[in-house]
Amino acid sequence: MRHVIIGNGPAGVVAAETLRKLDPESAITLIGDEPEPPYSRMALPYLMMGEIGEAGTYLRKDPEHYHRLRIELVRDRVEAVDTSGRRLRLKSGGGLAYDRLLVATGSSAIRPEIPGIDLPGVNACWTMADARSIMARAAAGSRVLQIGAGFIGCIIMEALVSRGLKLTVVEMGDRMVPRMMTPVAGRMIRDWCEGKGVRVHLSARVTAIRRADGGGNALVARLDSGEEIGADTIIVAAGVRPNIACLEGSGIACATGVVVDATLQSNVQGVYAAGDVAEAFNFSTGKRGINAIQPSAVEQARQAACNMAGQRVESRGNLTLNVLDTVGLISSSFGQWWGEPGGQSVELVDAPAFRYLCLQFGDDVLVGATCIGLTEHVGVLRGLIEGRVKLGPWKDRLLREPLRIAEAYLARAQAAA
Ligand SMILES: Cc1cc2nc3c(=O)[nH]c(=O)nc-3n(C[C@H](O)[C@H](O)[C@H](O)COP(=O)(O)OP(=O)(O)OC[C@H]3O[C@@H](n4cnc5c(N)ncnc54)[C@H](O)[C@@H]3O)c2cc1C
Repeated sequence: MRHVIIGNGPAGVVAAETLRKLDPESAITLIGDEPEPPYSRMALPYLMMGEIGEAGTYLRKDPEHYHRLRIELVRDRVEAVDTSGRRLRLKSGGGLAYDRLLVATGSSAIRPEIPGIDLPGVNACWTMADARSIMARAAAGSRVLQIGAGFIGCIIMEALVSRGLKLTVVEMGDRMVPRMMTPVAGRMIRDWCEGKGVRVHLSARVTAIRRADGGGNALVARLDSGEEIGADTIIVAAGVRPNIACLEGSGIACATGVVVDATLQSNVQGVYAAGDVAEAFNFSTGKRGINAIQPSAVEQARQAACNMAGQRVESRGNLTLNVLDTVGLISSSFGQWWGEPGGQSVELVDAPAFRYLCLQFGDDVLVGATCIGLTEHVGVLRGLIEGRVKLGPWKDRLLREPLRIAEAYLARAQAAA
């Protein structure tokens, strides 16, 4: 049996290791197109903060790890997949045969169509190469303009602020992290960032980028309001798109990403997908979607590998769960944090203390939540939502006193267990 995995990020690596554990005799090949040993993008902010070196971002620190597990690492780019002949076409020429295939190609940063977006000094913050280029250009005191204040945008702000940069953020939504935070929470994060010296423009778009007058490397970004902002570096954090180009013409069904069933298998037998590229069943919405976070990538990779090795495992679907550290302020959102039609909700706001809790109920079950500064509740909220725990009389108590969430968990979830 020859297992081939396209993509050597966290999903690819964990799938390869799981396969080796379950199937000691099979051949396992892991193909990645980035020059570095398999690394974690999550670690890039720590690299930019100077807390770790490049080797600290590597997923496995022992250089012999893959060799020892007889996982063949190939540095190449898969250009096409022939599913009828079970063969990959590689950029370097030639091909590679497979019996079972895992697509774990992740996603790439979107470059919005803005005039000037390709000028030197305009970078994404998605790969090791991006992080190196930001570190080379963004010296203490220099001006950085960041386009986008979504999940990744907020995560990297800490690294930029800690480098002593003068940071301005432009976000087209009416709040920060609009696809993860309620309006009140998103504005609270904005206030926190402004308190840390970050300039934040909401409901604003960068419409053009040009070189500053007078030569040199400086840039100028023009906003839709007409305002111009000078910057030495511009970082684009405007979302990501699954890497599915190499699947064109393969017959593997894709929507935004690769469409998979509960076993992480695509419509083509023997071809699976996991991680940022997989469009799997979402626990919260009941629909298919992409849950582009590392814990989901790793969980899906394990499940896909079990199925590839012949042990049937079905996923219950991923719970949407985002935990975010924005320049030291911890926020999180869970499940259907935006609520459901006809459902009830409660919101507790303590703006001066940067504490916030919003609970969303459907019948007497907690379906979603958003918090700021209440890290001790993360496990409890997850447990209640994922377990679809019936709250009974605790629902009305929580509507009056939402901070009693841990008591509700002990009374209902643990008691039932
Ligand atoms: C700065 C930053 C901070 C982040 N912080 C967090 C965080 O705090 N928490 C969290 O949960 N998530 C975080 N993420 C997101 C997390 O990194 C991703 O969810 C995770 O990397 C997904 O893993 P993956 O294996 O699916 O894809 P990837 O890590 O993207 O790996 C896929 C690999 O496949 C390669 N590839 C693609 N196409 C081909 C091809 N045709 N041939 C060969 N190779 C190919 C890619 O180049 C890449 O190396 C962060 C991301 C960034 C950029």
